[in-house]
Amino acid sequence: MTHFLNNYLGGQWQSGAAAVHTLTDPVTGETLAAAGGAAAGLAEGFAFARTEGAKALQALTYGQRAAMLSEALKVLQAKRDDYYAISLANSGTTKADSGIDVDGGLFTLGYYAKLGTALGDARALTDGAAAVMSKDQLFQSQHLMVPARGLALFINAFNFPSWGLWEKAAPALLSGVPVVIKPATVTAWLTHQMVKDVVDAGILPPGALSIVCGSSAGLLDALTPFDVLSFTGSADTAAAIRMHPAIARDSVRVNIEADSLNVSILGDDALPGTPAFDLYVDNLVREITIKSGQRCTAPRRALVPRGVLQAVGEAVAGKLAAIRVGNPRHADTGMGALVSRAQLDSVREGLALLRQEASVMFDGSAQPLLDADERSACVAPTLLAVRDTDAATAVHSHEVFGPVSTLIGYRDSAHAAELAHRGLGSLVASVTSDDDALLARFAHELAPSHGRVHLVSPAVAKTQTGHGNVMPASIHGGPGRAGGGEELGGLRALAFYHRRSAIQGPATALEQAKVGTTAYGY
Ligand code: NAP
Repeated sequence: MTHFLNNYLGGQWQSGAAAVHTLTDPVTGETLAAAGGAAAGLAEGFAFARTEGAKALQALTYGQRAAMLSEALKVLQAKRDDYYAISLANSGTTKADSGIDVDGGLFTLGYYAKLGTALGDARALTDGAAAVMSKDQLFQSQHLMVPARGLALFINAFNFPSWGLWEKAAPALLSGVPVVIKPATVTAWLTHQMVKDVVDAGILPPGALSIVCGSSAGLLDALTPFDVLSFTGSADTAAAIRMHPAIARDSVRVNIEADSLNVSILGDDALPGTPAFDLYVDNLVREITIKSGQRCTAPRRALVPRGVLQAVGEAVAGKLAAIRVGNPRHADTGMGALVSRAQLDSVREGLALLRQEASVMFDGSAQPLLDADERSACVAPTLLAVRDTDAATAVHSHEVFGPVSTLIGYRDSAHAAELAHRGLGSLVASVTSDDDALLARFAHELAPSHGRVHLVSPAVAKTQTGHGNVMPASIHGGPGRAGGGEELGGLRALAFYHRRSAIQGPATALEQAKVGTTAYGY
């Protein structure tokens, strides 16, 4: 059966649009769903969100909005099995990989429901204490953070149709800002189903949550200066978005999460046979294969001491060889498909580019696919190793969005850090070592070019949250090539959906302005 992903704007499901885009099963090629072309009624729908949606949301306290998030979570939890089924069919993911998206989204929603409850009856936030501006102390300045007047438009990437929605929508709705979500077309079905389930449950006020599927045409034109835009996707689309007049001229606040050449570093103390070495190998294999490498945080560059590069390569290759690739419906499949044939082509092109400067240490393509054939978007994992560390360039600039990582041999820690910075800004760098002093030094070295630095020693082998997993308590985003954005990080996420204003006036008036606020702190 083909589902039509109709748009929900202005508190109404739109019907009657012609199917322009189709969504397919990347393993079987079956058509699953369809979406229309350019959306009708964007300006009116956005205006409805800004007025009706925002008014209803902002009439509530943080605590009341947090309760709504909890109710939405209950609705979604009751339909988890449906979401896993959609994910399997439309993203070609194994159950574990579907869980990262589906349950990761629900976990993040629940996390913000809990954080919001603690904000209680407030409707705005105070940022810091009042500053005294006059000798008699009567004239002061108090920074106040109030919910943005506009709406939040989310334009998302294909790889996280659930998590990508909720990691953005939860802090926005908690802030009292209405959401319009535009999922990537190729996997929009899951996002659409989740939005539909929450809308049908009648938990959120009309205009609080809207969805546009199928075409991005006109979305940016419909933005007005107080709106905010959060984009996740490729650097090319990000560059086009930055040049749109809504952003370039009207200063719509924008957050961008784009390509990232993340690094995973093995400390030079971690020789073969040590627990840290084994940990590094296990984690690298996991990161290469989770969601077939289609995570923005996956370590594309594996920096290892050059003396152990061969040993790392052999250990990783041995484990990759044990992972069967194919149809996620088959019980023995450890890694499913890429999201589409177009992504398969893109991965193959990227591999060809990297192979100009790197040798193949492992290529799983000799193994037959399980219950899938060459018409599917399945691709085997590949491990490469650069031939000349200092001369290699593509490995630091071209993100292959698939199960591919490249070993790079470094001389010493300073060299490793310098190579890491060559990614020109990434979401995450991880370091594995049994030397806390070395880990601490790397933290300071890597932080300027990485949004998150993930330190791993054998002591936290079982408890560490994983190089690629984005936890809502930590910020997600990175400088430079990674887009320069910042999301999540607990209550820090709320800042994007609030306006900070310096309120200057008599101390007595400021005291009154602080009624119904709570302190913005972490
Ligand atoms: P994409 O082609 O840039 O598409 C991303 C989104 O932008 C989709 O919803 C797409 O809609 C929309 N879009 C395309 N052209 C647009 C335009 N001119 N104006 C407005 N919106 C437009 O990226 P993708 O292929 O889906 O995602 C893969 C990339 O995303 C990878 O490079 C990966 O690194 C990056 N990514 C980054 C993060 C992160 O957190 N940093 C997370 C995930 C992915 P359609 O689908 O309808 O074309």
